[in-house]
Amino acid sequence: MSTTLTKRHDVVVVGGGQAGLAIGYHLAKQGKDFTILETASEAGAVWRKRWDSLKLFTSARYDGLPGMDFPGDPDRYPTRDEVADYLAAYARRFDLPVELDSRVCAVRRQDGGYRVELDDRAYEARQVVIATGPFQTPVAPPVAQQVGEGVVQMHSVAYRSPGSLPEGRVLVVGGGNTGFQIAQELSASRETHLSIGSRQTPLPQRILGRDLFWYLDRTGLIRKTSDSRIGRRMSGRDTLIGSTPRRLRERFGVELHGRAMRADGSTIHFEDETELEPAGIVWATGFRVDHSWIDAPIFDDTDRVVHRRGVTDAPGLYFLGLSWQHTRGSALLGWVKDDAEYIAREVAAAGGRHEVGRPPRSSV
Ligand SMILES: Cc1cc2nc3c(=O)[nH]c(=O)nc-3n(C[C@H](O)[C@H](O)[C@H](O)COP(=O)(O)OP(=O)(O)OC[C@H]3O[C@@H](n4cnc5c(N)ncnc54)[C@H](O)[C@@H]3O)c2cc1C
Repeated sequence: MSTTLTKRHDVVVVGGGQAGLAIGYHLAKQGKDFTILETASEAGAVWRKRWDSLKLFTSARYDGLPGMDFPGDPDRYPTRDEVADYLAAYARRFDLPVELDSRVCAVRRQDGGYRVELDDRAYEARQVVIATGPFQTPVAPPVAQQVGEGVVQMHSVAYRSPGSLPEGRVLVVGGGNTGFQIAQELSASRETHLSIGSRQTPLPQRILGRDLFWYLDRTGLIRKTSDSRIGRRMSGRDTLIGSTPRRLRERFGVELHGRAMRADGSTIHFEDETELEPAGIVWATGFRVDHSWIDAPIFDDTDRVVHRRGVTDAPGLYFLGLSWQHTRGSALLGWVKDDAEYIAREVAAAGGRHEVGRPPRSSV
């Protein structure tokens, strides 16, 4: 690596999505000398890469970051481009120092803090906040490797619209919100099948005219912590918002299957002993995080970050935006502000002193 220039800041934030911008808001209020490094060429670009028809499952009322409401009717469900536009506008409104086209390839501990390395330059900082997102590397199950070449396959990150797939019968694999939304969209133009490996708890999007998240907020459920009894139960089971297998089958004619177990050429075999020969497959089977570029003693035996509400045992190294970092809201637009405020307070308190943190409680 040819590093030509080293700059210094008090704090470096890695990632300019909602989490990076939310912490940026607080750091700016504290008058910190900081920068936000973002791989993409616009803040919030991750949203533009999601499928064309994506609509949020949270209404606009619950999509605002600290200091700026999401614009428009608070009861509507914004599109992916509206979110990207909002995030870019947010960065501008608070004049946040986002450096675009700046991919961090390593964060290393060094005396007095960290060295943050990019291809063409490096930064030194006493404190680093990792806000690179909870959904990074697409994951597909081993059965994807067995599928014959005649079948067009893609992960949900590559799916844009029905035109992404060939004509003919399609299979979506994955019983989460992404799988359900994509299957529903495809069902309008072709024979669509959905493979559900494990059922998620279905919740209606609106109850008695109010958004589901109004209830989760009012009852305090959205802020139940990951170490509480109810939090542990909730974090162990994902929720399916605004749909049910029955609705998908009866209203949209999507045929349901059990878990996809193996493939034999172009035939997919499911756990419920059904089989299918699709022309195309969308793997809506999730993501894993990749923190392999961080060189600090903060990982457990399974490479998960050990932290307590985003605070690691490596002095000055923090995370923000992890799934269930603290509560169900930790990785959601409308609630990431709670953890952002907390981490900003930790950053301010640690300032130049960097004591070893309290015992960590969870790994993500
Ligand atoms: C399909 C889908 C639908 C969702 N719908 C909703 C919803 O309706 N409501 C809701 O509240 N939440 C929703 N979420 C959850 C959550 O809001 C999003 O995942 C959100 O993008 C997470 O924000 P983030 O800032 O933590 O991470 P990201 O948005 O992933 O941002 C991380 C940023 O870090 C950058 N980055 C990564 N690595 C590096 C690096 N090495 N160097 C520099 N930059 C880097 C990336 O380019 C990216 O811009 C949804 C998630 C998905 C996947």
